[in-house]
Amino acid sequence: MDETQKKEIHKKLMHEIDNTQKKIAEYTELCKPIAPENSIGRISRMDAINNKSVVEAALRQAENKMQQLQFMQHKIKYTDFGMCNKCKQNIPLGRLMIRPHSKFCVNCAQ
Ligand SMILES: [Zn+2]
Repeated sequence: MDETQKKEIHKKLMHEIDNTQKKIAEYTELCKPIAPENSIGRISRMDAINNKSVVEAALRQAENKMQQLQFMQHKIKYTDFGMCNKCKQNIPLGRLMIRPHSKFCVNCAQ
């Protein structure tokens, strides 16, 4: 991987980190306990509770992704960035552009 490619991935990483951060903030807001006096319109309280567990799962997922992104952000400074953690082959640039937090190549990720 050359410096130009690294720069591209880094840009993508920063963009993803920004997006994920916004998602985490949004989900955290949605996870706040529902005050009983709050009017939740046509949605029943039961639905709200169901939605809450969905949002909590999404929040955990976003936090997990954030950790991986931050790990990659750290790793991009080192030469083994873009290398599959398992087979030690270079992960194709196309894959890194879609999932900059990929630790494995397509084959090893399966
Ligand atoms: Zn691999």
